Amino acid sequence: MVIIMKAGASAQQIAGVVNRIESDGMRAHLSQGEERTIIGLVGDERPVDAEQIEVLDGVERVLPILRPFKLASRDFKRENTVITIKAGGQTFDVGGKGVVMMAGPCAAESREQVLESARLVREAGANALRAGAFKPRSSPYSFQGHGEKALQWMAEARERYGLALVTEVMAPEQVLLVSSYADILQVGARNMQNFPLLHAVGYSMKPVLLKRGMSATMEELLMAAEYIMSHGNYNVMLCERGIRTFEKYTRNTTDINAIPVLQELTHLPVIVDPSHGTGKWEYVPAVARGAVAAGADGLIIEVHPEPSKALSDGAQSLTPAKYQALVAQLRAVAEAVGRKLLV
Ligand code: PEP
Ligand code: MN
Repeated sequence: MVIIMKAGASAQQIAGVVNRIESDGMRAHLSQGEERTIIGLVGDERPVDAEQIEVLDGVERVLPILRPFKLASRDFKRENTVITIKAGGQTFDVGGKGVVMMAGPCAAESREQVLESARLVREAGANALRAGAFKPRSSPYSFQGHGEKALQWMAEARERYGLALVTEVMAPEQVLLVSSYADILQVGARNMQNFPLLHAVGYSMKPVLLKRGMSATMEELLMAAEYIMSHGNYNVMLCERGIRTFEKYTRNTTDINAIPVLQELTHLPVIVDPSHGTGKWEYVPAVARGAVAAGADGLIIEVHPEPSKALSDGAQSLTPAKYQALVAQLRAVAEAVGRKLLV
């Protein structure tokens, strides 16, 4: 439930309501607006009687939130969440008017490959460099990533080329290490419901890019975000990366519906990954343009200096030149829908 305080409610009245909630065994989440304070209840609401709360001093109204996700819900917070990223000497907002561009190879393969990728995507137009140091591969015999060494290459690329870093963390015990290098922690599709990992990235307070599981509903995605947010980390970006359907011509099916639906259900930014969404570089530009036209707050795109030599996901990686051409098109699409690329 959400408690709406009267305009001008005093600090003492607010504290009174918070004490009451806490004595019922729940946590209070305060959002202080210009005019009034809204208090959200976090936890098991069953012991709380809305009618008893409504008569407390300074309370105007009590609204039930019927959806299972609370902190992530638009009912809980009407205005969009804007996540400010400061990294590599630049600052940008995700979830505002700007459309953020994250690009880079699927995996960090060598120091040279990471630095070259960073230089090329920076030139072509990107705010953040993506690359995996820990790779979730379907086969245990496939390349698993270079681990901390790869994070060091990425940190060097951030300093050299002024890019934020987004990279995957696969296990709770990796969160501390990956957080010490990354600006945005990626939770991969296969780990969307790895609850110990969600708790750990929730405690970390770092911005999180949470990818939708390949068979997850939007509600399950939002409940996964709720796990992270329940620890006070509200810096969560949701990522639509394609879901599994009966269609076989593409690796996954980008659920374009997810963009407007999520934007209605939640205040969190929505990022689209057309690379994993299609699995084939040929289709990436069309789907990327579609995502921006549909209102995505950003894109994460795989770009490799030499896709034919990539250790993973070469078939869905754009060459830097193709990525550059796409960025130019996206500028026009963003403008047509009242947005602007952040690059
Ligand atoms: C990736 O970003 O390279 C990746 C493995 O993504 P996903 O978790 O969406 O499959
Ligand atoms: Mn990949």
